Amino acid sequence: MTEIQPLVAGNWKMNGTRAALAEIEKLSRGLKGHPADGKADVMLCPPATLLAAAVEIGGIAVGAQDCHVNESGAHTGDISAEMLADAGAKAVIVGHSERRADHGESNATVAAKAEAVWRAGLTAIICVGESEAQRKSGDAIAVVTTQLRASVPKGATASNCTVAYEPVWAIGTGLTPTVDDVADMHAAIRTTLVETHGGDGAAMRVLYGGSVQPGNAQTLMAVENVNGALVGGASLKADDFLGIISAYA
Ligand code: PEP
Repeated sequence: MTEIQPLVAGNWKMNGTRAALAEIEKLSRGLKGHPADGKADVMLCPPATLLAAAVEIGGIAVGAQDCHVNESGAHTGDISAEMLADAGAKAVIVGHSERRADHGESNATVAAKAEAVWRAGLTAIICVGESEAQRKSGDAIAVVTTQLRASVPKGATASNCTVAYEPVWAIGTGLTPTVDDVADMHAAIRTTLVETHGGDGAAMRVLYGGSVQPGNAQTLMAVENVNGALVGGASLKADDFLGIISAYA
């Protein structure tokens, strides 16, 4: 089986002003000599306003939460992947369920954004996940694998692309799927990625996201085909985020 280096990525969403840079400094200090050092990669995706300052702090890879598909132009308020790269981002989250819901982003838009991320030389973290109704009706795997086929472009490789499975009903709710459900979904995602992207699909990171906490991280991260976590709320506090990273100690 391919050895995949895990990634623990934090998504601050629309949270944090300059006062919160103290948490990033604390995180950076906590990562020095951390027992998980070398065993898992760590990234933080703060709001765009804090991105350059987070890069300045150093000691942690920094990513962004979204980008426009174009490189530049008349798109007031938008930010291109090239601008994020210029600010020091190494990756961009695309297709988060909150963007799919709040901004009506389709799978085609998400795929175009992933290609924009690659154009700028960055890694795309492509999110997929089913709603509560889709989980209850037994359609979760069909929904997610359909999203995957349409959201992960042909050009995805193990080094330029990470997939994040985030059940929408588990985000920010304190609810998580059972270990068996996570295992079944991640196995289906892996099978689909191998079908669509061959060896790269076999070696691509597949993160789990949705109410990951220090108390459940070890169990969730131990599930087969789970290659790390995308963490929302619990990444806002350095101590909680470090507690999650400790799953890889
Ligand atoms: C997220 O929004 O990517 C997420 C996983 O949030 P939370 O960890 O707060 O559920």
